[in-house]
Amino acid sequence: MDHNKIIELTNVSRTYSMGKFGVAALRSVSLTVAPGEFTAIMGPSGSGKSTLLHLLGFLDRPDSGRYALNGKDTTTLDEGRLASLRNNMIGFVFQQFHLLPRISALENTELPLVYAGKRHLKEKAAQRLKEVGLADRMTHRSNELSGGEQQRVAIARALINDPPIILADEPTGNLDSKSQNEIMDILVALNRRGKTIIMVTHEEEVAEYARRVIRMRDGKIISDEVKTPGNKGEKLPAVLRQEDAPLTEYTGRGRADLGDHFRQAFWSIFSHKMRSALSMLGILIGVAAVIAMLALGEGAKESISQTLASLGSNLLTLRPGSQKLHGVAMDSGSVTRITLGDVDAVAKLDNVKRVSPSVQGRAQAVYLNRNWSTQVQGAGVNYAEMRASVPTVGRFFTEDEIRSRQRVALIGTTVARELFGDNDPLEAMIKMNRINFKVIGVLPSKGANMWRDQDDVVIIPVSTAMYRMLGKQYVDSVDIEVSGPSFMDGTEKAIRDLIKKRHRLTKENDDSFEVRNMADIQASLAKTTETMTWLLGSIAGISLLVGGIGIMNIMLVSVTERTREIGLRKAIGARGSDIMTQFLIESVVMTFTGGAIGVMFGAGIAAAMSAAAGWAVRVSMASVLLATLFSIAVGMIFGLWPARQAARLDPITALRYE
Ligand code: ADP
Repeated sequence: MDHNKIIELTNVSRTYSMGKFGVAALRSVSLTVAPGEFTAIMGPSGSGKSTLLHLLGFLDRPDSGRYALNGKDTTTLDEGRLASLRNNMIGFVFQQFHLLPRISALENTELPLVYAGKRHLKEKAAQRLKEVGLADRMTHRSNELSGGEQQRVAIARALINDPPIILADEPTGNLDSKSQNEIMDILVALNRRGKTIIMVTHEEEVAEYARRVIRMRDGKIISDEVKTPGNKGEKLPAVLRQEDAPLTEYTGRGRADLGDHFRQAFWSIFSHKMRSALSMLGILIGVAAVIAMLALGEGAKESISQTLASLGSNLLTLRPGSQKLHGVAMDSGSVTRITLGDVDAVAKLDNVKRVSPSVQGRAQAVYLNRNWSTQVQGAGVNYAEMRASVPTVGRFFTEDEIRSRQRVALIGTTVARELFGDNDPLEAMIKMNRINFKVIGVLPSKGANMWRDQDDVVIIPVSTAMYRMLGKQYVDSVDIEVSGPSFMDGTEKAIRDLIKKRHRLTKENDDSFEVRNMADIQASLAKTTETMTWLLGSIAGISLLVGGIGIMNIMLVSVTERTREIGLRKAIGARGSDIMTQFLIESVVMTFTGGAIGVMFGAGIAAAMSAAAGWAVRVSMASVLLATLFSIAVGMIFGLWPARQAARLDPITALRYE
C-alpha cells in the first residue's frame, strides 16, 4: 500500500445520458490525494465538481477508469460494500445539512452508528458535538438550531465513525459569514488532526482555508496548485484546542440490527402521527369488521345448534306438502292436509314414543289494561316433554283438557313480563282474541335465537286453538318422537305409508306432505350458517384489503416525501436492504397496531350487538389469530412494493430530490 495515496483516480469518466445526448460531466480525470491533505475543488457551475465529489464518496460510480482507495480498486465492489465504505471511510457534509427533523442533535449525530451496527454510544455522539462546540445544544431538535449549528451537527455526524476522509459539498453555501468562519475553522482543525478533507466551493474566500486548490472546467482538471503558506485559519476553536482527544476506532458488527430498524421505524411512525393514524384506521376498521362478523356467524351457529339440541335428536316432523317448489307456491290441490285423526293414527304406529300436533297463529293478549301481541301455539299434551317446556311455575294442560277444548294457557316469560310485570300470573284470566283463558303455568325461558324471541309465546291445547280460536280444521305440523335412533328410517317410512294410505295418495302426489328428520334439518341449518359466516367474513376481508391498499398508498407517498431522507441514510452508509427492512417494519408495525386495536374494537362491537339486539355472538380465538396474522400479512404484502421502491433509490438522485 502506498501511504502517500489515500485516493487515486485514473482516467475516470462519467457521462449522464440526457435523452439522445450524453452529458460528459467528467472527462478522463486523473487525481491523487495524499492522506492529510486539505483540498478545495473550484470551477464554474456545471464543470463537474459535484460529480467528482460524489464519485469520491461512492454515491455514484464512474463509467470508466479506476478508483483506488488506500491502494485497493473499488470499481468492482457491490452495493453493500460501497455502503459500508460510505459508512466507515467517508464523512459527508452537505450544503443543505440534511439533518433528520424532529429528533435531537444527539440522535442525528448517532445515526451512522445504526448502519455500522455499533453500540449506541451517546457519550461518543456527545463528545463529537462538544468538539464542534455544541455542548449546550445536544437535546435541541434540528429546527431549533441555526444554520451554522445545523452544519456543525452534520460535521459531528460525519465524524462519528471516525472516517479518514471528509467530503464537503459547498459546506458554507447556506451560511452567513460568521458561521462560515466557524465551520471552516472546524474543518481546518480536523485537517490538523489528520483528516483528509476534500471540499467543493466556488468562493475564493473559502478556498483560502485549503492547502491545495484544484480548478475544473468542462469536466476536466485545468489546474492543481499547492499553497505553501498552508491554511489560512490559524486560530483553532477553543474546544478543539483543549481536547485534542484521539478519535478512537471502536468496532461494530458492520450491520444494522433489528432493534435499530425498529427504532428507526418507530421514529418515522411517531414523527408523522396523523399520517400513521389514518393508515392504521383502514386496517383497524377492516379487522374490527372481520372480528365482529365472524363473532356473529359463530354465535349464530352455536345458538342454532343449541336450539336444535334442545329439540331432541330422535324427532321426526310431519308437515303438509312441501308447499314451495323452488320457491314457488304450488296450488293447494296438491297439498295433503293433516287431521287430528292422522295424528292419532301415527301415534299408534310401532316405535313411535309420543306425538304432539301443533298449530300456530297470532293473537292480541290482554290482561286488565295491558295488551301484547304474541304468537299462539296449539300443542298436544306431550309438547312439554318433547320440547323441554315443562313449566317452571304451575302445570301443563292434560289430555282431558285437550279433549274438552279447555281455555287454559301457558305463557312464555316475555309474555308474563309484558302482561303481568311483577304480578303473579297464575290463575289470572287473560283475553286472547276476546276469548278468556286461564293462565295455568309459565314456560321455562329459552332465550332468543336467530329469528325470534322464543319466550314470546302462549301455548294452549291444540283442540282449543283449532276449533275455538284460530278456526283451523287441520294441524300445521306434527312432532313425532321415535323410540330410538335405530328406528328412525323405518318409522319415517311407516309414517309415509300410513299417510298415503289414509289420504289415498297416488304416485304423482305423494310429495304433497313431508316427513323430515331433525338431523337433516340440523345439517342443512349448519350449512346455511356456515355459508353466512363465510359471506360475512369475506365482506369484512374485503375491507381489510382496502385497508391494505390504503397502507400501500401512504407508504408510497412517504417514499416520495422522504426521498431526501432515504438519500441521506444511504449517504451515511445504509444499504438498500436496510432501507427496505425499515420500510417493511414500518408498514407491518402500522398494520399490526391497527390490527390489535381492531381486534379490541371488533370484540367491543360484538359485545354491543349482543347487548343491544340480543344476538348471540362469540369471538373465537381462531378469528382473533386469523385477523392478526392477516393484518401482519397485509403489512408485508402491501409494504413490500413501496419498500422496494425506497431501497432502489439512487443515493445521489434521492439527495437532490426537490
Ligand atoms: P458542478 O458541481 O461543477 O456545478 P456537476 O458535477 O453538478 O457540476 O455537473 C456537471 C455536469 O453534469 C453538468 O452539465 C450537469 O448538468 C450534468 N449533470 C449532473 N448531474 C446530472 C444528472 N443526474 N443527470 C444529467 N446530467 C447531470
